[in-house]
Amino acid sequence: MVNYDAVVIGAGNGGLVAAIRLLQGGARVIVVEKHNIPGGFATSFRRGRFEFEASLHELNDFGTAENAGDVRVLFDELGVTDKIEWLQIPEAYRVISREEKLDATMPFGVRAFIDKMESYVPGSRKSMERFFTLAENIHAAQAYSNSVNGNTDSKIMVSKYGNFVRTGSYSVNEVLKAIGMPKKARDILNAYWCYLGAHCDDLSFIHYASMVYRYITKGAAMPKMRSHEISLALAERIRELGGEIWFNTEAVRIITDEKDGGISGVVLKDGKEIATRHVVANCSPHVVYGKMLDKVPEKAVRALNARKFAGRGFTMFLGLNKSADELGIQNHNYFLYDTMDTVKQYEIMKNIDTNTVQATVCLNRAYPECSPDGTCMMYFTTLYMSDDWGNVKAENYFSTKEKAARIMIERFEKDTGAKIYDSIEEISVATPMTYARYCGHPEGVIYGYESQYWDGLTPRLLMMKEDYITRGLRFAGGYSMRLSGYSSAYFSGDISGRQTVGDIKKEG
Ligand SMILES: Cc1cc2nc3c(=O)[nH]c(=O)nc-3n(C[C@H](O)[C@H](O)[C@H](O)COP(=O)(O)OP(=O)(O)OC[C@H]3O[C@@H](n4cnc5c(N)ncnc54)[C@H](O)[C@@H]3O)c2cc1C
Repeated sequence: MVNYDAVVIGAGNGGLVAAIRLLQGGARVIVVEKHNIPGGFATSFRRGRFEFEASLHELNDFGTAENAGDVRVLFDELGVTDKIEWLQIPEAYRVISREEKLDATMPFGVRAFIDKMESYVPGSRKSMERFFTLAENIHAAQAYSNSVNGNTDSKIMVSKYGNFVRTGSYSVNEVLKAIGMPKKARDILNAYWCYLGAHCDDLSFIHYASMVYRYITKGAAMPKMRSHEISLALAERIRELGGEIWFNTEAVRIITDEKDGGISGVVLKDGKEIATRHVVANCSPHVVYGKMLDKVPEKAVRALNARKFAGRGFTMFLGLNKSADELGIQNHNYFLYDTMDTVKQYEIMKNIDTNTVQATVCLNRAYPECSPDGTCMMYFTTLYMSDDWGNVKAENYFSTKEKAARIMIERFEKDTGAKIYDSIEEISVATPMTYARYCGHPEGVIYGYESQYWDGLTPRLLMMKEDYITRGLRFAGGYSMRLSGYSSAYFSGDISGRQTVGDIKKEG
């Protein structure tokens, strides 16, 4: 039996960062990954002449050397920023919504964003300025909270970060209405909602405002060689620091100690056992408590049953044999909705037959050389807000998948006027089944647990102590305290890795 200070289960974004933090804290670490490459969703794959990005539309909160976001600061500390070639996404987004006949393209930069909004919605300036003032204060409050590891002083919170406290328990829609933002401006501003996967009556204002603020003030970034470049850089760093990664290695069981019920080891699929008192799990708590742990505390059962899965993923990847200019694809980042009533839209997204929403990217608009001359690449993603794919019979799987892909193409052509169907050279489609198989997430969920009023960013950060249920077991990744998304998964790895170093040190 081999022995390590900590075992990280899964080499996704959260797991890789946690491993580096553990190594930097002096721990002996092994990462076990069931796949043969690192990254989880953060990867790429080839079809013919095209290397497709598997998931990343844009990296939030990275910024530039002159205007660094928190992810860049983290990557600097991890020692990986310079291992990656970065590029900037040219504009924030183009949002098209049928019901409101909305078609707006928004830039990065607060001033430019407010000016553009004013051109679409005359009279919106004041409320937009209010929004960014609130968002700035929320961002500062989060920075303060991070600097004191979540142990905030309530007097400081009230005196310095009053807007954070004031808006903390309200939804996006409640606050935007309260600050007098005109409906059309709210519709345009709420375009990013599908990135968090909860509708704007449920979504916490501070969570949404903080994400929008980071996008608009820092812009968005992308590694040239797709997200796989980040995953490889993180894996390389683990090895440089003396850590080990075992690929093709699935953890099947986590063993607990007879005496205190805490972690005592990990069992691999081939039967090998690793002795350890610390596990950072990059897989979902549902899988860990549902399948891997031999003793499941009642508290964990209750917590998991209360939580709600966020969207199940569906993505179509197209390699096109004409350039973006030739096809009339103007933008990098599109959001195509039926309605900007996000509650109504969320309902529509529950069913395969009704969901035609898409967040679509043409990478050539950010990086023209990402595919051979005279070609371009696109990926189209949607979320299903229920497990409707679980109702598809095996014999109907391929036809359902093709139908959903065809609807995506038709919708993109109709809404944007671009013509892509006749130029498809490569096509690949990932359904919730693909995602369930690839990363092992229940129902093909790609966004962890949904951000709810009671289970959003702030409650999860405040409840970190209560969520530490089994001694020695912490979670990193899309299901944990920072919620889902690239930046969030990296930050959660940072937190769990450092917390585990603290646990190890306390044990002496
Ligand atoms: C199509 C798509 C588009 C997206 N777009 C964006 C975007 O534009 N911006 C953004 O911020 N986020 C986006 N996301 C979300 C983002 O990809 C995820 O939030 C993030 O990558 C999750 O990271 P994670 O740390 O949870 O690890 P995961 O990617 O979930 O990886 C978990 C890893 O653990 C491994 N594993 C699981 N169980 C075991 C086991 N028992 N033993 C060993 N290994 C195991 C898996 O093989 C996998 O490698 C997108 C996701 C998808 C799928």
